[in-house]
Amino acid sequence: MSENTVTNGQVVSMEYTLWVGGEVLDTSDGQGPLQFLAGYGNIIPGLEQEMMGMKIGDEKEVTVAPADGYGEYDEAAFMDVPRKEFPDDMSIEEGLELSVSGDDGQAHYARIDEVGDDSVRLDFNHPLAGQELKFKVKVVALRAPTEEEVEHGHVHEAGHHH
Ligand code: ZN
Repeated sequence: MSENTVTNGQVVSMEYTLWVGGEVLDTSDGQGPLQFLAGYGNIIPGLEQEMMGMKIGDEKEVTVAPADGYGEYDEAAFMDVPRKEFPDDMSIEEGLELSVSGDDGQAHYARIDEVGDDSVRLDFNHPLAGQELKFKVKVVALRAPTEEEVEHGHVHEAGHHH
């Protein structure tokens, strides 16, 4: 494994800015670089692929199509839920973001799309589904992972374990 370029299994520290529709949506400016373990799906696949082979100090602009980012917008990813299934004290409003546990016991992101008299329409699309993502990234450091990081498949930042 080369220690000088981004390859699978390396811990990569990167500075980044993300634009969606011409507006900055997220940036590492002021927060410090983001670290990820390359090859473990820690970041979206379309960006990870493009970063392979970059060296420390390299900068790159990457455009990620929806399919390689947060997915295409799925017209079928809606569900009507009877209003009585929501807690009485909950204020149900369009645009409210929820975490819904599915039949698989996993938590899924959902957004209230429409509120009817008896039912509430949930949209399960990721907020960035269907969007083209533009990144500017800069590799600022590379290191080998610890055994524990490889076991967990993610980076442990100093003093932080999960
Ligand atoms: Zn861990």
